Amino acid sequence: MIRAMELYGNASSMHSPGQDAYRAIEDARAKLATFIGSSPDEIIFTGSGSEANNTVLNSVYCEKITCSEGKCGSGDCCKNHLITSVIEHPSILQTAKCYERRGFEVTYVPVDRYGIIDPEAVRKAIKHNTGLISIMYANNEIGTIQPIKEIAAIAKENNIYFHTDGVQALGKIRFNVRDLGVDFMSFSGHKIYAPKGVGVLYSRKNTRLCPLIYGGHHERNRRAGTENTIGIIALGKAIEIANREMDDNNRRYLKMKQKLRDGLTARIPHIRFNGHPEKALPNTLNVTFEYVEGESILLYADFEGISFSTGSACSTGSLDPSHVILALGVDAEIAHGSIRFSFGMNNTDEDVDYVLEKLPPVIERLRVMSPLYKS
Ligand SMILES: *Cc1c(COP(=O)(O)O)cnc(C)c1O
Repeated sequence: MIRAMELYGNASSMHSPGQDAYRAIEDARAKLATFIGSSPDEIIFTGSGSEANNTVLNSVYCEKITCSEGKCGSGDCCKNHLITSVIEHPSILQTAKCYERRGFEVTYVPVDRYGIIDPEAVRKAIKHNTGLISIMYANNEIGTIQPIKEIAAIAKENNIYFHTDGVQALGKIRFNVRDLGVDFMSFSGHKIYAPKGVGVLYSRKNTRLCPLIYGGHHERNRRAGTENTIGIIALGKAIEIANREMDDNNRRYLKMKQKLRDGLTARIPHIRFNGHPEKALPNTLNVTFEYVEGESILLYADFEGISFSTGSACSTGSLDPSHVILALGVDAEIAHGSIRFSFGMNNTDEDVDYVLEKLPPVIERLRVMSPLYKS
């Protein structure tokens, strides 16, 4: 990143400093393409994972406008029904809700008690006017991994575009976009140690994509705005490192997660773990402590230097329990006591020991204050 800061040229400029920046961006694009198994011209750099998600949903809505203006000549006209799931990230769910208010139809497929989507439920939700199916690959709160290949095949059979939010999968699961059979896939830089403010949209060749942002000819007319050169170059580097270290990191995460899970179970009564025991990201552990509030646990743990979240950082500010935990069928009362641990590359076994030492007294203290708790 520091070296990238010296590339002050605008990648769209014809002069040499501009062309240096251009080449560095294309180098990052090629790295990313190789990593996900696409070709470089299928990679669109965006300002965030949220923007990549919004772009795909907007694209279908954009088609509908074309349609109502009578400009749409193709058979896909008026495909204004979207299928997504109840556990998506807010950048999908809130966008879907916005389009619903504008007259879009949206079906939210449910999950089972482990947070897994049944591909047959997606098949049953398909209507004559379904234009897009968008189901996330791995969930950010509970880590569950969805049967994306099966769902993509169902979409393809029915000639419907398929998008998956792959933000949490990148750098944690090895996959190939062609093998998965997806048309669109979103990623975010800061989830794999690139800086914040850079995202990626994979858009398969020959898919029609309306830009979310219009302007210059950047990103082959698919996303206007001068490129975030530093962020993009850093993302290319982050992919290189993730590729090299992913397997080792995952092994370590799994061991730490097992230790944390066993340790919490041994030390704290009335707890439950959310998500699927195997079909899950190696670094994510979501746990519900009955009779306490996640926010209170978070504040007390923060005093001890332990950082975790109660849901998506993008849901902070909402007093409702996590929509993901509720979707698992957990009572609202109990869902309030859920927190999410996610391990990163700098975490060690000692960190787990530290949490196991500091967290049980916090839970105990909070429970003593709770009117609902009768030890
Ligand atoms: C973080 C995240 C996003 C949003 O990415 P930003 O770059 O922060 O906008 C989208 N989907 C999932 C699953 C995420 O975890």
